[in-house]
Amino acid sequence: MKILIYLVILLVPLISFASDGPDRSHWGYLGIEGPEHWGMLTKEYMTCETGSKQSPIDIPMQGLSHRQETLEFHYNTSELHEMNNGHTVQVSHKTGCHVALNKRTYNLRQFHFHEPSEHHFDGKAFPMEMHLVHQDETGHILVIAVMMETGEEHPVLKSLWDWLPDQIGKETSVPLMANFREILPASTEHYSYSGSLTTPPCSEGVQWIVFTNPIKISEQSLRKFSTLIGDNARPVQPLGNRPIEKN
Ligand SMILES: [Zn+2]
Repeated sequence: MKILIYLVILLVPLISFASDGPDRSHWGYLGIEGPEHWGMLTKEYMTCETGSKQSPIDIPMQGLSHRQETLEFHYNTSELHEMNNGHTVQVSHKTGCHVALNKRTYNLRQFHFHEPSEHHFDGKAFPMEMHLVHQDETGHILVIAVMMETGEEHPVLKSLWDWLPDQIGKETSVPLMANFREILPASTEHYSYSGSLTTPPCSEGVQWIVFTNPIKISEQSLRKFSTLIGDNARPVQPLGNRPIEKN
């Protein structure tokens, strides 16, 4: 009897340590943990399966309605920190940066990359896509997506790849001060629509701003990302009757 009690005391913490719990289920981009199965991995990810306003989407280049939106960048020059979180390379600015969309303020939380691009333009994917994730004070999320094609990349972007940590979960600071507005296209021309997070839990109500113009990434940086992270793009989702506006 005593031995049994000892066994229970010994095993219970081991079992609970091994289990991830229902709300922290593993997900990925391949096989049984891949995008087709996200909605079934745990009930917290159900929207990935049942949602009707999901992202990414294929953006048609014709027949879009026009709307006049104002998008202003208020990004600062600051230190950059980056981390390979196993799903992507995530970068954060250490000082406050924000955008104003129609005078509403959204603070920059982080930015990260997908390979190949998640959004398509008329059925065509780009080699990579960058997501700049912003949030307003009430928690609404605004993501600015920028397509990336191969070519000569901006020096700041090159430094990011040069200092990329190959160890998962380790954060490094990039030894340069940079303003990320510099590497974005000068024109803020974009498509906008209402969608979701492109990773579990796939929550909806996300405002998407997809830049019309791409930026450049070198072949070498693309290969480095490919080796470290690999394919991390969710397939395009049905548009349904959602409007897409060109601004
Ligand atoms: Zn993303």
